[in-house]
Parts: sequence; C-alpha cells; structure tokens
Amino acid sequence: MRALTLKDLDYSVLQQCMHCGMCLPSCPTYESTKRERHSPRGRIALMRAVADGDLDVGAELAEEMNYCLGCLACTTACPAGVDYTTMFETARAETEASPLTGTVKRRFLRWLLLNQVFLYPGRLQLIGHLLRIYQNSGLDLIVRKLKLPYLLGRSIGDLEPAAPQMNREFSDECIDLWEHPPEGVKVRGKVGMLTGCVQSLAFADVNRDTVDVLLHNGWSVFTPRTQACCGSLHAHNGAPLLARQTGENLMSQFEREFPGLDAVITNAGGCGSHLKHFSSVIDADMATQWDEKVKDIHEFLVETGYRIPEGSEAEIHALTYHESCHLCHGQGIKSQPREILDSLPAWQREELPHSDTCCGSAGIYNVLQPEESARILDRKIESIEKTSATCVVTSNPGCHLQIQGGLQKHGLDISVTQPVSLLAEAYRIQSGNSPVDKS
Ligand code: SF4
Ligand code: SF4
Repeated sequence: MRALTLKDLDYSVLQQCMHCGMCLPSCPTYESTKRERHSPRGRIALMRAVADGDLDVGAELAEEMNYCLGCLACTTACPAGVDYTTMFETARAETEASPLTGTVKRRFLRWLLLNQVFLYPGRLQLIGHLLRIYQNSGLDLIVRKLKLPYLLGRSIGDLEPAAPQMNREFSDECIDLWEHPPEGVKVRGKVGMLTGCVQSLAFADVNRDTVDVLLHNGWSVFTPRTQACCGSLHAHNGAPLLARQTGENLMSQFEREFPGLDAVITNAGGCGSHLKHFSSVIDADMATQWDEKVKDIHEFLVETGYRIPEGSEAEIHALTYHESCHLCHGQGIKSQPREILDSLPAWQREELPHSDTCCGSAGIYNVLQPEESARILDRKIESIEKTSATCVVTSNPGCHLQIQGGLQKHGLDISVTQPVSLLAEAYRIQSGNSPVDKS
C-alpha cells in the first residue's frame, strides 16, 4: 500500500485558500522570518504547485514542510475553513518518501524515533526503565558533567539534558487495570483511559491524577496495559502507514478487551486531536464509533458535569494557562480547561498573552529543528514573564517539558503542571489529603 500524494488529494481541498493573508499573524514561523514562503499561504501555494505539476517534490517543498510546526494555528485563523491538516500531512508524507529530500542525520533521527522506538510500546517501556535507573542512580549528572554524550555527536550531546525525567512509577505500575469509584460515590458509567506513550512514563502521575478525578466523579476506569502509541507522531511526521498500523493496534486493544465503554479519555492534546480522527486514517466502521467515543478529559468533565472542589484558602496563588496547539486548534477545546482552573479554590487564573501560540515543542520538532524551536520558546517565556503567575498550566506532555526547560534556561522560579493535576490535588485537600480509594 502507498500513501496519498498531493496529486491524489481532492482538488477542492487545495483550492480553498483565497489568499487573504489573515492566517499570517498567527503563524510562528512567519513571525520569526516575515517571509511569505514561511507562512501558511506560501506553503499552500507550494503544495498547490506540486499538485498542478508546476513543481517537483524536492528540497524546496521538504524544507518548507519540515520548517512548519504543524501547530494548526492557521486553521483557527482562516475564515475560509482551509483544511491545512490534510494538506500538511499529505505533503509531509510525500516529501519524506522522496529520495531527494532530507539530510542523513534527519533521516536517522526520524527512523530511530518513529520506526524503532514509538512503534513498539514494549521497547519504549524498556527505554523508560533504563532511563529511570540512569536518572535515579545519579549517573546522569556525572555523564553530563563529563560531557560524555558529546562523544556520540553534537546532536546527541545537546539532546541528553532534554530527556524527560522518568516517573518513579509508570502508568501500569500506579494504575490498576480496573478501578471503581469509592464507597459513597454513585457509579455513573465506565470509561477507558489512554495513558499515551511519553505521558505513560514521564507523566504517569498526571495519568494517576486523571483516573483519581474520574473516580471521584463516579466513573469506573479501565486502563489496558502497555498501550500502543496512538500514531499522532507518525501522522504529523509524514509516516501515515505507520500511523495507521499503530492506531489500529491501539483501537483493537481497547475494543477487544472491553467493547462497551461509555467514553475513552485522553489527557494529552496532541494524542486527542489525532485519536478523534481515526476514521480519516483507518477505513472501518469501528473507527467512526471510536472517533465519537474519544473525549478529552476537560471536555468530558464539563460535558458530563464534575464536582466543584470546595475549600477556602488563606492564600491564593496566580497561575496562567498555555494552550496546547492540538487541544485548542486541533480539537477546538478552549473554554473547558479554563472553566476547570477557575473552579479551583486556591488559584487565581491570569490570562497568558498569546496563550494559543505554539511553544516550539510540536511533537519531535524541538529535536529536528532545535534552533527555530528555541526561538519560539523564548517568545513563549517572554509572554509568561509578563504575567505574575507562579505556575504555568498546560495539558500536553510535549508543552509541559518544553516550557519547563525554557523556564529553567531563563532561571525563572515558576512551576509547570496540568489542569487535571490541580483538580485532583483540590479533591485531595478537600477530603483530608487522602487519595481517592481504589476498590
Ligand atoms: S501549522 Fe503552524 S507553523 Fe505551519 S503554517 Fe500553520 S500556523 Fe504556520
Ligand atoms: S487565512 Fe485561509 S484563505 Fe486566507 S491566506 Fe490563510 S489559508 Fe488562505
């Protein structure tokens, strides 16, 4: 089977752009360079030229598609409803498949991450275990001090400190296969919990908090073991066939083990955006039903109703909210996380300037385009500094790590957390610091 090319696309998708330019101010790469070719309009013109046969798929298109973050801010800004996601993913796949594009280093990193690591949940867990031993033993500090990773090349050396800190317990270790609301909480239904790939290892505590919040609100939670990657990284990085393969694995893992769930919950913006569109990747009735079942945790809580945490705090702290691109632009979820944050007794939310502009993480963009990613991150940190917040809240593991790294680099004593963790903490404080019971 071969992936779709730009020439295969429905031509009306490529014709939608009316060249108005309203998307330009929202595009982070246009903001960096002020060059038309680095804007959504410029990229769409290139893609259309390929579809029309006026331009070959080569270095020019590849460079542009690799420079694009895939943040989808242009889709929100566009009054014509341009389907940039479809064009972008198709063009990325076409350039990645072309032998004329990409450097050896880029091809190696991409192959390593997409084909050898994120395709195999068991391998990812093994790497997580090894990384946890390495970090907990203190060996990482010695290795970094001696600059040993640079013996493997500058890119590896630069990457090593950015490796996420592994949790003491991974999701499969701190969440049971089935958990039920504690006594006294009326059961409202059964949901599945998507633990994610990086999220499952480096943010298992956020997954634990998500399950606690669901239990507290009367939902029984089913969490399959060693879950497959959802495939969003593959889809956004020009590997649609791998995205399809890993997506099918994940969906059948849930449907095979427990078919009657009321909803499947995700707490990572990037995964959720992809998981809600399986029917566009996988041609099966099951995929359409799956799309309707997948819910972002904030969306689910606000839609079904959640317990507002009670408490009167002597001290109120200021927080600000950075929106994950794939939560706000990919899924259109903007008000629900804010509503949850505004219901927390101990926190006052201050709006972040340009809260829906990308932080530069964008999947593996910070690995493949480190310089542009750092420029975009610096602008995000400048925005955060304009607030009086002592805490930045976001809802995607990539954004969490990227912003945490930026704050550290700038020497700012500002913590980073996620909305669902603050809600779980508020429930715990309300019930006397005891975690939600497992039955
Ligand atoms: S996806 Fe983001 S970086 Fe790419 S063209 Fe759209 S706004 Fe610009
Ligand atoms: S806002 Fe939409 S229609 Fe206007 S230039 Fe950008 S993509 Fe084209």
